[in-house]
Amino acid sequence: MKKVLVNEKVSSDALDILKKAGEVVYMPSGDHEEFKKLVKDVTAVMLDTTIKFTPELMDMAPGLKVISRTGTGVDNVDIEAATKRGIMVLHTPDANTVTVAEHTVAFIGAVTKHLLFLDSETRQGKFKTARRYYLPIDLDGKTLGVIGFGRIGKQVAKKCMAAFNMKVIIYDPYINDDVVPSGILRYSNEEDIYKQADVVSIHVPHNKETSNHVGEKLLSLMKPSAYLINTARGNIIDEAYVVKMLNENRLAGAAFDVLANEPPIENEEFLNSPKTIISPHSAALTNECTVRVACEAATGIVDFLEGRMPKSIFNRKGLNL
Ligand code: NAD
Repeated sequence: MKKVLVNEKVSSDALDILKKAGEVVYMPSGDHEEFKKLVKDVTAVMLDTTIKFTPELMDMAPGLKVISRTGTGVDNVDIEAATKRGIMVLHTPDANTVTVAEHTVAFIGAVTKHLLFLDSETRQGKFKTARRYYLPIDLDGKTLGVIGFGRIGKQVAKKCMAAFNMKVIIYDPYINDDVVPSGILRYSNEEDIYKQADVVSIHVPHNKETSNHVGEKLLSLMKPSAYLINTARGNIIDEAYVVKMLNENRLAGAAFDVLANEPPIENEEFLNSPKTIISPHSAALTNECTVRVACEAATGIVDFLEGRMPKSIFNRKGLNL
């Protein structure tokens, strides 16, 4: 029986799906050393974002045929190396779209209203003074800048227009004009988004082009009253420069679900800033979404093992399928 290694805590529904096609090796600890030992004789891996699937790791698993990511981003898998070895890489691009978009909108509301800071001040007995800080802003009529108008970017735009009556401007050089709904302005110059938006929200994949792309050059263009949101990947943004801007009052706030170091190194500066809100890469980890994503990732593996073509093959082109 083929072995399937699962490196994260997943729902029993997903495990039941996998058990139909193979022997499940379940290591919910996500421990790297344990993973190295267990991966040796497996045919399939169901993978979260904590393990970096390097060529060296792939070479430890000569029988590996399929990696199924429980999520959208596959930047923790060396795609070139996997393709070269004939390993199929699957992901679940649609299953978490709405969930991440909801988290992003919650971030936009919370960071612009300074909810976490005011909550903390109130609990510390500063009710009277904190209510007069006048930090929160209205979102009605403000401009949201969306970088990357794919699945999540589109949903965030739609939700912010409906919930807050925000204007939306977008930058995405890879889409056709016909996917941009009326009422949304598409810019061909990314810098204009950073200059004009009251809230900039990042929704691009992490790759060679976007790695550390949002640094001093773009961030310096932002208004001091503006807010930065990142639910995409930490390595896209120069976090240290964001903190510098927050400390110098050149940016009003930032909300990050994803970080360059996950988990963050102790005492990283932005952990202590009252102007930041941070969540532990949990934007997609709602009750419903974790089940949905795990079942879809498991179904992809079962389809592969039973000889059917899985739905979302990330390296389809590279494998000439
Ligand atoms: P998607 O592929 O549907 O959309 C990405 C969009 O970015 C595409 O439209 C693409 O054309 C655009 N793009 C690519 N490079 C760009 C660039 N340099 N400048 C501007 N636009 C660019 O992906 P999605 O489902 O919307 O997800 C976006 C990212 O969010 C994923 O790659 C993933 O890393 C991240 N994500 C994070 C979580 C989380 O838990 N926080 C969950 C899901 C996805």
